[in-house]
Amino acid sequence: MSSFKKGGMVILSSPSGAGKTTLVKKITKNSNFVVSISHTTRAPRLNEKNGKDYYFISKNQFKKLIKKREFLEHAKVFDNYYGSTKKIVIDQIKKGKKIVFDIDWQGTRQIRNKKLNYELLTIFILPPSKKELLKRLIKRERKNMKTVKKRMKEFKKDLLKWKEYDYVVINDDLKKCYNNIMKVINNKKKLLFDKTFINKHVKSLLN
Ligand code: ADP
Ligand code: 5GP
Repeated sequence: MSSFKKGGMVILSSPSGAGKTTLVKKITKNSNFVVSISHTTRAPRLNEKNGKDYYFISKNQFKKLIKKREFLEHAKVFDNYYGSTKKIVIDQIKKGKKIVFDIDWQGTRQIRNKKLNYELLTIFILPPSKKELLKRLIKRERKNMKTVKKRMKEFKKDLLKWKEYDYVVINDDLKKCYNNIMKVINNKKKLLFDKTFINKHVKSLLN
């Protein structure tokens, strides 16, 4: 893969709470990547803003967008619908922009299968431990244990998708993880990672 000089897509996926939204924000702040702002039927969190974090829409509006074939990919995640619109993504890429996505494995599969004529790099983020993941989710969801439990329930299923990604990284220390990702994106680091180590780590997370 050549470095992302012009138009290209980077996807970050992970089990919920591992830190991909935090990492995507850091990437767009410190580089010339723009984020693909998704549409969702989920209710906004306290600190989230419409048009910045997501386009928050109703289920009916979402269904209309599906019917009009506006989505590049879309999926149902934790009882809500999420999708990336073609317009937002393709318009930016055509302008030579580099796009970063924070989407799940279902959306990643759809984009991968489309075999678009743009460079694509997929990165999977793992939490350092199940305990730490739970701690991060409780913090972010402001102790809304119903949501935390729902997300932890999907955790194992999501985790197993790491094998479908080009690169896998553990988000323990945020700065280190970010630097690692930027090295991969900037092609200063080959897409090689220690698969045996990651496999062991995933097994420990599954216990
Ligand atoms: P995701 O988008 O993968 O669901 P978030 O980016 O929302 O996860 O992160 C979940 C929570 O964990 C947030 O409160 C975030 O501030 C925190 N967080 C993210 N990365 C780290 C890290 N490396 N160390 C400690 N806390 C982190
Ligand atoms: P959250 O509700 O925590 O913001 O996101 C829940 C999950 O939905 C995360 O795994 C996130 O990556 C995923 N997600 C967010 N936007 C999209 C999207 O546009 N498409 C798909 N397929 N998944 C998305």
